[in-house]
Amino acid sequence: MENALEKQYTELKKLYQQYLNDPVNLNLKRGVPSKEQLALSEPMLTVLNETDSFVSKDGTDIRNYGSLTGIIEAKEFFADLLEVEAHEVIVGGNSSLQLMHLVLSSLIKHKKDIAANSWKNEGKRKMLCPSPGYDRHFALADYLGFELVPITLKEDGPDMEQVQTLVANDDSIKAIWCVPTYSNPTGITYSNEVVHALSHMQTAAEDFTIMWDNAYVVHHLNQEHEAALNLLEACKEAGNPERPWLFCSTSKVTFPGAGVAAVASSEKNIKWLSEPLSFQTIGFDKLNQMRHVKFLKDRKHLLEHMEKHAAILKPKFDLIVHQLEKNFQGKEIVQWTNPNGGYFIHLTTQENCAEKTVEALGAIGVHLTEANATYPYGENPLDNSIRLAPTSVSLSDLEMAMDRICLCLELVALENKIRKK
Ligand code: PMP
Repeated sequence: MENALEKQYTELKKLYQQYLNDPVNLNLKRGVPSKEQLALSEPMLTVLNETDSFVSKDGTDIRNYGSLTGIIEAKEFFADLLEVEAHEVIVGGNSSLQLMHLVLSSLIKHKKDIAANSWKNEGKRKMLCPSPGYDRHFALADYLGFELVPITLKEDGPDMEQVQTLVANDDSIKAIWCVPTYSNPTGITYSNEVVHALSHMQTAAEDFTIMWDNAYVVHHLNQEHEAALNLLEACKEAGNPERPWLFCSTSKVTFPGAGVAAVASSEKNIKWLSEPLSFQTIGFDKLNQMRHVKFLKDRKHLLEHMEKHAAILKPKFDLIVHQLEKNFQGKEIVQWTNPNGGYFIHLTTQENCAEKTVEALGAIGVHLTEANATYPYGENPLDNSIRLAPTSVSLSDLEMAMDRICLCLELVALENKIRKK
């Protein structure tokens, strides 16, 4: 047995050495649309031209200053997308992360009703971080002075027993991050029970906040569409209308560098947020907001546009799943997700194998997101989390990357096994 193991190891190591001598340069680190996907939205650049009147339907000249919270057409578009009312929406610039920063920093600086008693003055503040999760969420909360508290992310959302116990007893827990539909990185969608529990749960902090980042709300890969329930509606029903802040953007619909983002919440919250926003800008890019509305039109057209993205992306996700099944079906080396939407596939390796695998891949030119970056502070005691972001590479490059990924997963697992003997 020992010999068979060592023989297999020698063979794999030989192949690895060949890759090491002739490294590739493939980047699967971040969720970036491919050039083909970006081309889908090029016609948007000419939907506004000099023949346009550049006037919004409420009479605003969209070339000029003004409309701090966005043009009415864009508010209606995002209201439809997020299933809220237009007056419950602020339409911003190209980044939803920027709006998340605005909400959190404003809540830290001055509370909604009692300006003197802000989160800033309350001492320690903590943020619940369902993990594996989105590294930039965790980094933002850390930057803004939250202590990050890991929560297990299950197939149907955060472990609500864990969440409910913590929020009921600790008033320094101020907020939770959620990516409710096709989560980054595991691709899961929150169940109705989880949405109900989040909206209704008792919280020791009176202004407990849910950061509901619906970044992948229309990013379906299959005919089967998943969607988390409407959190704002659930919170209103529960008598907690000020609890949720909903976010989304067109970063992966049109252009990440020149899209449009939106935030939605109760009418009271939206009015409250307008004040801190007014210190940042006199108004965002309204021409771009109008371009987006003219190009994407409404939910129906948006979904048709997203089908074109899916046609490009689906073969990449299929290739990864096919390779993983071919190499690892029935073995205990790695488990993988097979999502119905979103931008990522998540690998759960054996314990203590993720870092070594990502490192081994880096040396042969396959660059992945840092292992365990999906955990607060990048700390995952099991060292078993790897995120694959396959969208920006071509199918042929992805095939080369997957050959190497499968090799390194097997090699590191085998080394682990031999070490344990
Ligand atoms: N939220 C999530 C969950 C994401 O995965 C990403 C991009 N990877 C973003 C937000 C970034 O959004 P934006 O471009 O609108 O800032």
